Amino acid sequence: MALIEAFKQLLGDTAVLTQDEDLAGLIEDWRGRFRAPALCAVLPSNPQQVAAIVRLCIEHGVPVLPQGGNTSLCGGATPFDEGKRPVIVALTRMRRIRSIDPVNNTMEVDAGCVLATIHEAAAATGRLYPVSLGAEGSCQIGGNIATNAGGTGVLRYGNTRDNVLGLEVVLSDGSIWDGLYALRKNNTGYDLKHLFIGSEGTLGIVTGAVLKLHPLPTAEAVAWLAVDDPQRALDVLGLFQASCSSRLSAFELLNDNQIRLVLEQMPGRRCPVARIDGWHVVVELSDTGSTQEITATMQAVLERALEQGLISDAVVASSGAQRQAMWLVRHSVSEANKKAGVGLTSDTAVPVSAVPAFIAQATASVRAIVPDVPVVVVGHMGDGNIHFIPFFSFDEWNAMPDRDSLADRVRQAIDDAAGALRGTFSAEHGIGRTLIGEMSRYKAPVELALMRAVKQAFDPLSLFNPGRVLPPAAAPSVSPSVATTRQRET
Ligand SMILES: Cc1cc2nc3c(=O)[nH]c(=O)nc-3n(C[C@H](O)[C@H](O)[C@H](O)COP(=O)(O)OP(=O)(O)OC[C@H]3O[C@@H](n4cnc5c(N)ncnc54)[C@H](O)[C@@H]3O)c2cc1C
Repeated sequence: MALIEAFKQLLGDTAVLTQDEDLAGLIEDWRGRFRAPALCAVLPSNPQQVAAIVRLCIEHGVPVLPQGGNTSLCGGATPFDEGKRPVIVALTRMRRIRSIDPVNNTMEVDAGCVLATIHEAAAATGRLYPVSLGAEGSCQIGGNIATNAGGTGVLRYGNTRDNVLGLEVVLSDGSIWDGLYALRKNNTGYDLKHLFIGSEGTLGIVTGAVLKLHPLPTAEAVAWLAVDDPQRALDVLGLFQASCSSRLSAFELLNDNQIRLVLEQMPGRRCPVARIDGWHVVVELSDTGSTQEITATMQAVLERALEQGLISDAVVASSGAQRQAMWLVRHSVSEANKKAGVGLTSDTAVPVSAVPAFIAQATASVRAIVPDVPVVVVGHMGDGNIHFIPFFSFDEWNAMPDRDSLADRVRQAIDDAAGALRGTFSAEHGIGRTLIGEMSRYKAPVELALMRAVKQAFDPLSLFNPGRVLPPAAAPSVSPSVATTRQRET
């Protein structure tokens, strides 16, 4: 085919993948739930090659699917099974740390840099890039930017949007926008970078970024707490916020079902507290200064929590290895859940104060549909972002009649519980393909119309990742009056 030959001329034979065995890992999503063919995958080495690829795709009328580490949990980075087969533009060869400015506290990177590599490069100059998540060994900064990734550090440092100062993007006409500013202040009209952040590859291909760095904490304390219920966890969060202010860097909630899945599926993980039943919190304090002092602060807050009957047990890590072991349990949840069965994962967020009410309402609503289904709960409680996951073994799920409809009803029940508390159905993973239907349900027509206008302005040929984020304009939607009500609810 002429387009594939043109790619080979441009990039060399080894940078154009057409064989099934080479494409296998790129056309199926991380959970193995979505799989669809691609025309080919191309592996550019620099922004100019990305731009030339886009120009060739325009010429041949072929859609473009940017791909990072392919760790999307909402089916965002694999081909859509309708319409023309896309060209996957995988940025794995673009992994250069371009420069670090330790005085300005910034780092300029290629978009294909793996997140863990960015952490290491920042740490080597005594700096921290604070976005941290379970997939950090394989997800790329371009994917993080395209999804506005959150993770465990949002409570203190914000999400990806808060940590990106500048972008370089290949646009839909095959030109390159150089927005690589390393500025904390820049009020020169609309801030275009914010449109690309979180756009999930639908507006352009991010090829480079300027990231904000922070001082590398020299003191850390991590504790594992057992609590009886989410309300007590919330009260403990309040104690930490009142006593530790911005030194509180993570506050993660897990229920007993989640801990059991990790212990069953992931060898070498252990629960730091003796009692599994009930609820668990991982709390982290970090700062410059001494570990001794911050550990003493942690212990003092925990003593007060114990006195007030808020926690039933607590273990404070006494070494770096113990801190890592606690985080390993937390970061193993997605892998454990993937191995154990089928979780109907949600990505809701509600105001932090409403987390206990949300969990109670979602549980009741889901049980009304599937009585007795075990519910796995894991989330970034400090941000109000809870992944509420009704869970089935593979056998149970395969025996379920009408699985797609059941999954939709369960998702809507959970998302409605969040919406009733002015929450959202998509906090950090993005829309991808799994939440397109929820966009129609929850977003007011005026919002969808504005988003479509943005898409039309940035990508008039609908070249980039078609079928993602925005539902088709003609799709049946809720009536405007209902949509407006729901909009108020979300
Ligand atoms: C074990 C595990 C734990 C996770 N934990 C978290 C978590 O705590 N918080 C969280 O937010 N997410 C989490 N995720 C989800 C996922 O890791 C993030 O969404 C991540 O940001 C995706 O990065 P990626 O490079 O893998 O992107 P991909 O999956 O490859 O792509 C995601 C989307 O971004 C687009 N895209 C990718 N690269 C570019 C680019 N250069 N330019 C334009 N568009 C692009 C793709 O087209 C797609 O729409 C987790 C995933 C796993 C597997």
